[in-house]
Amino acid sequence: MPVLNATGVVVHTNLGRAPLPAEAVAAALGPCNLEYDLEAGTRGSRREHAETLLRALSGAEAALVVNNNAAAVVLMLAAHAKGREVLIARGELVEIGGSFRVPEIMEAAGARLREVGTTNRTYARDYERAIGPETAAILRVHPSNYAITGFTHRPEPRELASLAAARGIRFLRDLGTGTFGPLPAGLPGDGAVADAVAGGADVACFSGDKLLGGPQAGIALGRADAIDAMARHPLARAMRADKLTLCALQYCLTAYMEERYERIPGHAMLHCTAAALEARARRAAAALAIGGAEIAVAPCEDVVGGGSHPDARLPGWAVTIATPAADASALSRALRLGATAVVATVAADRVWLHLRTVPPERDGDLVEAAREALRAVGTRGAANAG
Ligand SMILES: *Cc1c(COP(=O)(O)O)cnc(C)c1O
Repeated sequence: MPVLNATGVVVHTNLGRAPLPAEAVAAALGPCNLEYDLEAGTRGSRREHAETLLRALSGAEAALVVNNNAAAVVLMLAAHAKGREVLIARGELVEIGGSFRVPEIMEAAGARLREVGTTNRTYARDYERAIGPETAAILRVHPSNYAITGFTHRPEPRELASLAAARGIRFLRDLGTGTFGPLPAGLPGDGAVADAVAGGADVACFSGDKLLGGPQAGIALGRADAIDAMARHPLARAMRADKLTLCALQYCLTAYMEERYERIPGHAMLHCTAAALEARARRAAAALAIGGAEIAVAPCEDVVGGGSHPDARLPGWAVTIATPAADASALSRALRLGATAVVATVAADRVWLHLRTVPPERDGDLVEAAREALRAVGTRGAANAG
């Protein structure tokens, strides 16, 4: 069921992650050139379209799209390290959520995990010392949903890439999240996929529905021989992306190619300025003014979500509501159960409607839903009092 996300969490995993452009879905409705070469009028390759765009956007030699990033990581390890050893820093043995735990993924792919360094500090020489005849690869995992701060060290990806190349092993990266567009102001620099590719990874993979703002997908980029080994692996067929995904992804990648970022709702939400959000909050609050309820606007903190950039706060604005007829959690429940379901947050005994994650063209629907929820709890409050 469709809901309005008024939580301020842009990539909300429980609400379906990145909001897709309607045009991206429409692209998949009818027949499409999924495996058809329009120029030659003959059978083409399913890998052709999205992957051509991915190569152009990232500078990688080759690309492969699978069902999600978890699948891409399993395939990457199965194709390059099955039955052999993979070196990983202790601080990167993370659980991302939704049961994605790096040691278990490694085991499922048939690779043997070898930890190097310490939880907070790992150097290139720690990897170097651990390389032996059984070593197939160095794996670097983005810690995503948690941050190690203070007395810490991680080698630059470039150092690991040259170490791996010198010793004839693979350098594999799970980036978790990434984009081909500009990153929102104030976000730490990771997330730029082209940088990771240029940094020398044999394979780098990331999700299609986090920062990128596309459909659920796992995108692997890298050297031609390394990506081919993944594409030829028997598991690849079981993890194949479907038509909907490939068509929607192609739409989003074309928007990035043409630098028409406004076509990607997730991108637009991440980049919306506090001033624009404040103006929308004030308009919505004025439209909502209703007898008996206390309606205000206030600055708030929004987040990227999707288990990425846990420390980054995006300056947002919200409409906040309190009513004597019900407490904030009852009002928030009424919002969720209205004709247009709205998921909001509750803080300081008020309901907060974060504007950032509401598509601007739905502001009127948000106001209408809030009015309906206030009516619902108002009636109930009056009935209880009577
Ligand atoms: C999110 C994430 C995954 C899982 O990606 P899905 O697309 O949800 O399968 C794997 N690794 C990292 C580092 C992540 O952040």
